[in-house]
Amino acid sequence: MFSTNQARGCICLLIAAVAFYHKSANAAVAAVWDTYRSIPLVQHDSFEPLVAVTAFFIWTRMWHVLDVYVPSLRVYKLHLSHNIKAWKLEGYPRWEAVYYLAPLLVFDWIYPRRKLDQPPPSVERVVFDVIGALLIYDLLFFFSHLALHKVPFLRRFHARHHVMGGDMRACDATRAHPLEELALVTFAITSLNLLRCHFLSRFIFNITIGYMLTEVHSGYDFPWMLHRVVPFKLVGGSVRHGQHHAKGDRYYQQFFTYLDDTYEWVRRKQQRIGESPDQEG
Ligand SMILES: [Zn+2]
Ligand SMILES: [Zn+2]
Repeated sequence: MFSTNQARGCICLLIAAVAFYHKSANAAVAAVWDTYRSIPLVQHDSFEPLVAVTAFFIWTRMWHVLDVYVPSLRVYKLHLSHNIKAWKLEGYPRWEAVYYLAPLLVFDWIYPRRKLDQPPPSVERVVFDVIGALLIYDLLFFFSHLALHKVPFLRRFHARHHVMGGDMRACDATRAHPLEELALVTFAITSLNLLRCHFLSRFIFNITIGYMLTEVHSGYDFPWMLHRVVPFKLVGGSVRHGQHHAKGDRYYQQFFTYLDDTYEWVRRKQQRIGESPDQEG
């Protein structure tokens, strides 16, 4: 198994190679962009929703293969239950792709926008777009997720996502009420549009967020995962999200940690003030 330091080393090597061969890297991205935008399917307005759903399908299948066919990896599981049959049976209809695809298709129909006439992006632009859109998505997700837990009327819309408690698997990323799905899709599109992301960045974002959403729900804690590899505990990953699913009273961010840590700090401070003897009487 790849260790955390080996994964970090690979990423550092990749960054160094891109920095050293910067011109060649940008030329490669330009060549990819020219080929990408000439493909008829890519020019279709509904291509992005199709990419998002296909990416989800492939990532969830990948995690499913690990769950079912690679028992040696179970030592990395955060939860010890391997009862996949019970997981499949409990309240998991097969309409997730429709819930996810339908709002995207409607949005495409209302707002046709696909003109692939942009110049090629630089490597930095793609990295900025993808990380920036993930940060905005995560920010929007945090506040909506907090509301889904704290506002009694909204709790019913989020209950379905927590039906398996801490014993979650990658497919739980798509186990959500249709209205919650709609909100998440809107957050993703808003994040991309706010930054005016390049079309190539949008493609990479859709594949990346599909992976990250299935990773945080995978129930695994591999040493090479993002929450291990990214320094300073900036990413919460499957460990924090697993604790959120199990307890429901902490860690409301989807990917990162800064808002959860701030929220927890404020909550504890208020709790201390409330317990202070000065406040009594
Ligand atoms: Zn979740
Ligand atoms: Zn929740």
